[in-house]
Parts: sequence; structure tokens; C-alpha cells
Amino acid sequence: MRYGGNTPCIEVSFPDINRLIIIDAGSGLRELGNELMTRGQPVEAHLFLTHTHWDHIMGFPFFVPAYVPGTHIRVYGPVTYEEDTLEKVVGGQMTYRYFPIREAELAANIQYFSLKEEVMDLGDGIIIKTKYLNHPVLCLGYRIEYQGKVFCTAYDTEIFRNVFITDPEHPDYDAEMATEGEQVAAEQNGMIEKFYQDADLLVHDSQYTQEEYEQKFTGWGHGYIEYVCAAAQRSQVKKLALFHHDPLRTDEQIDGFKEKYCNEEYCGDTETFFAKEGMIVEL
Ligand SMILES: [Zn+2]
Ligand SMILES: [Zn+2]
Repeated sequence: MRYGGNTPCIEVSFPDINRLIIIDAGSGLRELGNELMTRGQPVEAHLFLTHTHWDHIMGFPFFVPAYVPGTHIRVYGPVTYEEDTLEKVVGGQMTYRYFPIREAELAANIQYFSLKEEVMDLGDGIIIKTKYLNHPVLCLGYRIEYQGKVFCTAYDTEIFRNVFITDPEHPDYDAEMATEGEQVAAEQNGMIEKFYQDADLLVHDSQYTQEEYEQKFTGWGHGYIEYVCAAAQRSQVKKLALFHHDPLRTDEQIDGFKEKYCNEEYCGDTETFFAKEGMIVEL
């Protein structure tokens, strides 16, 4: 419960302007909503979803400000299947089939906007850029720029791999295809590294260790610690938060990983840590 305990939800706030950005509506959104209620101001939130897997939207029905008149929530996110709009996927959790309150009964003003790869000007000098990641559904990384500071997210995502056969002994091996596949994967990985180039803080999927990834979880859509640390270093990321821990990990295991990975050998000049419940990072 020191690491994890809730599914993804990140609050981004600004020191000098009253703007609220939330990334993902995992179960952590419930606690954030309770905390927002104590601030005594109408909630005006921009909620950016990385994707609509359930661990990233399940907190939405439990977000108390959504039940308060005067709240305004703009929900943004990628849509994988045209017929399943964001409103249907996210707001659809509030139908009597799943929940005692229907979305139509919510007091807040809630708007939905579907996103692709794009650049958005949110006003007050806040710029948001998005980038498709590598996950079984459309999933976006976010890059928020404000007054020379850069905050990035890259989760849920897996390293792009060569999809062609690379073993020359294999009967279907095709040297040209194998080389091309290698190039395409390297290019796509490079584009993601470029997306978080020079970030002051990068929050990155690091669900597995390299050993776990190679033995069991290749193709599951998640990253591994060794690769993430090396990639962040290549991109001159200043601070790296390892995020989206495997749900079965104990705090003790992660403390052990911290000893092993959060050092110069794996991370160079990038200051690396495992994201904790309720952690505040200032840029
Ligand atoms: Zn996912
Ligand atoms: Zn996830």
C-alpha cells in the first residue's frame, strides 16, 4: 500500500494559476475527488484518459464532484472503436446495470472529446501534446509544457518489437523482412523517446522486470524497468517515476527493486524512483 494500492490517477496543478488537469480516472480518482471537495471551490477539471482499459476509468463513478452542481468536467481520450464513444465507455459505467445512479442524473456539466495525436493549447500558456503508444487498444502518452517545464506520461506501453521472424534457421525466415521489421521497431521506439525528450518528469509504465517480460509477458502491452531506465537516460529525462507496478508486487519487493535499479548503473543522470501512493513531485 505504500506503492500502488490504487489504479492510475495523476493530478497536475500549477503554482500560479488555478487550473486542474487530471490524467486518468483509475480508482485513485475517488480520493482526489474527496480532496477536491475539501478545497471549497467549484471543480473545473480537464480529465485526460490515456486509454479506456478499466483500471484507467473505474474511478469515474466514485468521483464526488461529478454529483455537485457547478462542477465542469471535460473528458478527453482516444477512441479505439468509432461506435463506442468516450461517453458510452466512460459515462456508460453509470447505468443501472453497473451502478445505482445513471449518468443523466449527474449534476455536473460533463463534456467528452475524442483525441488523436495532436497539439492542444489549453490557454494560460499550457500546451498539451499527445502520442500513440504501443498497447492492445489505442493509448496516448501526454506531454504537458508550461513555462519551460515539461511533464510527460508514457503508459500503458510496451517496447515496439520486430514482428517478423529473426531466426535464420526458421523455415519461413526472410532476411529482408527481418531487417525491415528491425528498422520499423527501432524507428517507432525512437519516436516515443523523442516525445519525452528533455522531460523534467516522465511517468513511465514499468510493470515488469526484463526477466519477467522475456519469460512470460512479451506482447502484454507493458514495459520493463531496465528498458525504461535506459530509454529515459537516452532522452535526457531529469526525473523518472516508475509507474503502473504489477498488482501482485509487495512493498518489500519494490523496496528491493529500488536498491537494485535506482542508481547510476541503470539510470545514469536520470533521478529515478518508484511512484508511491499520494506522492507529490515538484518541477
Ligand atoms: Zn491498459
Ligand atoms: Zn493499465
